Amino acid sequence: MKASTKQTLSLASLMVLLTAPSLVHAHTGAGHTTGFAHGFAHPLGGLDHMLAMAAVGIWASQAGGRALWALPAAFVSMMTLGSVLGMAGVTAPFIEEGILLSVLVLGLLIAAAARLQIATSIVITGLFAAFHGHAHGAEIPGAASGLEYGVGFVLATCFLHLSGAGAGLLFKRLGQARLVRYAGGAIAAGGAYLFLA
Ligand SMILES: [Zn+2]
Repeated sequence: MKASTKQTLSLASLMVLLTAPSLVHAHTGAGHTTGFAHGFAHPLGGLDHMLAMAAVGIWASQAGGRALWALPAAFVSMMTLGSVLGMAGVTAPFIEEGILLSVLVLGLLIAAAARLQIATSIVITGLFAAFHGHAHGAEIPGAASGLEYGVGFVLATCFLHLSGAGAGLLFKRLGQARLVRYAGGAIAAGGAYLFLA
């Protein structure tokens, strides 16, 4: 397939995703926050988490080196910390905005192929991750099923990081680093759309 065809196809599939309102997730209150299956399904069922988490993987693969593992590790650990703070009843402002901003900013960083200091990248990634975690910690009940929900949530997050990083590395190897930047642009557009949705 020609690169331009591939681009058109991926843009087209993104448009389909974006116009499917059931996939656009907003945290309007407590949802199903019990059990492993719900926890695993949630990040995969909402564009806000899905795009941001895949973006972390893509950005990590784009940066390469230590960032490849450091950024996903920072996301998962800070997301967990955020959810613990949420569970403990620590309130934080602008959670939903922070989540949407993470999609927009990570997308732009990928589109710009931004080469930041690794420490800076870790701080950015970790900060956004805390928003993703907090949004759910506040909803998770203290029961064992809440813990299962958290484990499912973290595993789905790792899956999205790996998918993003895997795709990023593949395109890099194929000499198509430019396509990765386009994907970043599409993610940023998705983030902008979510703000309006
Ligand atoms: Zn959510």
